[in-house]
Amino acid sequence: MSNLNLFWHRRDLRINDNIGLYSAYLTSKKIIACYCLDPVIFDSNQIAPAKVTYLLESLQELQENYRKLNSELYILQGKPEQVIPQFAEILNIKSVYYNLDVEPYSKERDQKVTEALKEKGIETKSYWDQLLHNPTEILSKSKTPYTIYTPYWKNWQQQIKPISMENINKFEPLTETEKELIKNTNIINLPTAKELGFIWDQPLFLSAGEKAANDQLEYFCNNLIEQYQEQRDFPAIEGTSRLSSAINLGVISIRKIWQSSVKIMEYCRSDESRNNILTWQKELAWREFYQQALYHFPELIKGAFREPFKNFPWDNNREYFEAWCEGKTGYPIVDAAMRELNETGWMHNRCRMIVASFLTKDLIIDWRWGEEYFMKTLIDGDLSANNGGWQWSASSGMDPKPLRIFNPASQSQKFDPEGEYIRLWVKEISSLDTVELVTGKIPELTCYHCGYTTPIVDHKIQQQKFKERYKLQKM
Ligand SMILES: Cc1cc2nc3c(=O)[nH]c(=O)nc-3n(C[C@H](O)[C@H](O)[C@H](O)COP(=O)(O)OP(=O)(O)OC[C@H]3O[C@@H](n4cnc5c(N)ncnc54)[C@H](O)[C@@H]3O)c2cc1C
Repeated sequence: MSNLNLFWHRRDLRINDNIGLYSAYLTSKKIIACYCLDPVIFDSNQIAPAKVTYLLESLQELQENYRKLNSELYILQGKPEQVIPQFAEILNIKSVYYNLDVEPYSKERDQKVTEALKEKGIETKSYWDQLLHNPTEILSKSKTPYTIYTPYWKNWQQQIKPISMENINKFEPLTETEKELIKNTNIINLPTAKELGFIWDQPLFLSAGEKAANDQLEYFCNNLIEQYQEQRDFPAIEGTSRLSSAINLGVISIRKIWQSSVKIMEYCRSDESRNNILTWQKELAWREFYQQALYHFPELIKGAFREPFKNFPWDNNREYFEAWCEGKTGYPIVDAAMRELNETGWMHNRCRMIVASFLTKDLIIDWRWGEEYFMKTLIDGDLSANNGGWQWSASSGMDPKPLRIFNPASQSQKFDPEGEYIRLWVKEISSLDTVELVTGKIPELTCYHCGYTTPIVDHKIQQQKFKERYKLQKM
């Protein structure tokens, strides 16, 4: 019987501290790996060009890392339930290992792959790797999943966190016969984003790959984490970790990230620093909260979590939506944020909240339009975090209180007081007075001369309209 195992990478694009891979390694050091370009994901128009570019470049680094350790990462293309069993059968694979995911499609796909492999007499083994606590680990006293963040966090925070796996130093190489067999398989060369139909010509917001992610974590921990709480809300400042794309695709291990924050906490000299780190850890818990929510309530991807909001009377004005997408609403902070997104594939968290509030509560457009646009554009597009963020902003999801309506002007005054962020992204108004930029009160004639749009809606009127409709839904 062959002792060759296959590791199937998905959202865990690294060798180090990878629970599924390490578990396979403990059984046999003879491991090869694969990544499958699944048409459901890559032909869906639901994945951003920046994300595809980041993913492919990370895969390239991963391939090099496998080669350094005597093994190989093979690229497959097609339906996973067809191409993975075909590949595994030709190579006489004993077991296929992979890490689990919370997304409804992933769960369904894994089930199909497992069944198809079973028919060929190949076993599968799966593990939780992408979370510090798997979705069934943190439950309320009544053993039900949490739907409110604060009690979830209190429970999550108290639980002992897992430690990292040991590094893998070398794999056992394939025999010459096995290398010959590979030639009969359906492997392809790693394509470029362009070959997959995605155009992304800008530099990536965060360089791809495990090394860059580790460097970024180190930089954040050495320079920014101890001021995180004070700086994280200012989009003109680099005050957050910018690790979301690496975390999203598992280019860096979540255990390593957690331990880095704990280590800094141990050496902190002030309560203030400790609070800053704690605030960052709370963000990691938000990610896990939304993932467990999606795992237990897969219907979240279809619409509002709260029953009265399933049929909310949105205006859904297509012209307004296009203006929002293009950053031409006449609200400087909203336009700056949308232009940052379009140009870099990333948007600061404060701005994600501002533009989401603006789309749902000022333009009264269904949050699912915004959710879809974000997924198509974000380098860190993540189904659970994105859906959670949008439902939070639309007040349609878990944790709906208080009713959150962001006033774009007060948000700019508070978080971009000098208008630096607005100036950076909305070039045509960059020479205007700070007061005009942050209040958004730009005279019509000035707008005309700068070539900038006058506001497409009136915040006060729209806010009132939304509140009235919201009240009716609650009754
Ligand atoms: C409308 C909306 C849509 C969003 N869509 C996404 C998305 O598609 N993908 C995504 O990763 N995040 C999303 N977020 C959450 C958040 O904006 C990003 O995680 C954050 O801006 C990433 O920057 P960072 O890595 O510097 O985060 P940091 O502030 O350094 O936080 C560290 C990590 O914690 C996690 N995190 C932080 N905030 C949140 C949050 N509110 N919800 C879930 N996880 C969080 C991320 O993994 C992040 O990398 C969304 C938020 C909103 C309001």
